[in-house]
Amino acid sequence: MQFPALEQLVDVLGSLPGVGKKSARRIAFHILKSDPEISKRLSDSITNLRREVRFCTQCGGLSQQEFCHICSDPHRNQRLLCVVEDPSDIFSIEDTAEFSGLYHVLMGALSPLDGIAPEDLRIEELSQRIETHPFDEIFIATNPTLEGDATAHYISEMFANRGFRFTRISHGIATGASIEYADKGTLARSIRERKSLE
Ligand SMILES: [Zn+2]
Repeated sequence: MQFPALEQLVDVLGSLPGVGKKSARRIAFHILKSDPEISKRLSDSITNLRREVRFCTQCGGLSQQEFCHICSDPHRNQRLLCVVEDPSDIFSIEDTAEFSGLYHVLMGALSPLDGIAPEDLRIEELSQRIETHPFDEIFIATNPTLEGDATAHYISEMFANRGFRFTRISHGIATGASIEYADKGTLARSIRERKSLE
């Protein structure tokens, strides 16, 4: 391509999840053809997002301050901790209104094939949190995929014999599916009927 600016945008867009080279090019051409106000709003909203939204120091969820609104809420059940893969999973679980405890985001799941090891996840932070906070139950709501199951197993083994009750999201969400795309009713039932991990 003789248009480096276009090429650069296509490269960046193409690196986004779910956007292939073809879609990236289509979006770039769309931006080029559309009202300049739309490109300005797009770039402003990306800048604002990065400026205003950060990750909570404690749970790793989204926050506008050092601690998110869930970690700062004294009415949440402080003895119940839900472990999820991504900050977006918190939104899905909160939407069900079935869970009243705190969260911990791992920022992914174990995946030897992709080179994702325990030290690449927020497992050390989880360990520190568990050491210093009296949780009764650790509800592991990683996705019901190979990676999510392996992560759930790893965590429950790592903290076994510490007196916690480990629970796992129940059947309902299809194996291989992700929490983010589960419908609200199914996810609510999987939380309500969570089972103990032995
Ligand atoms: Zn938080």
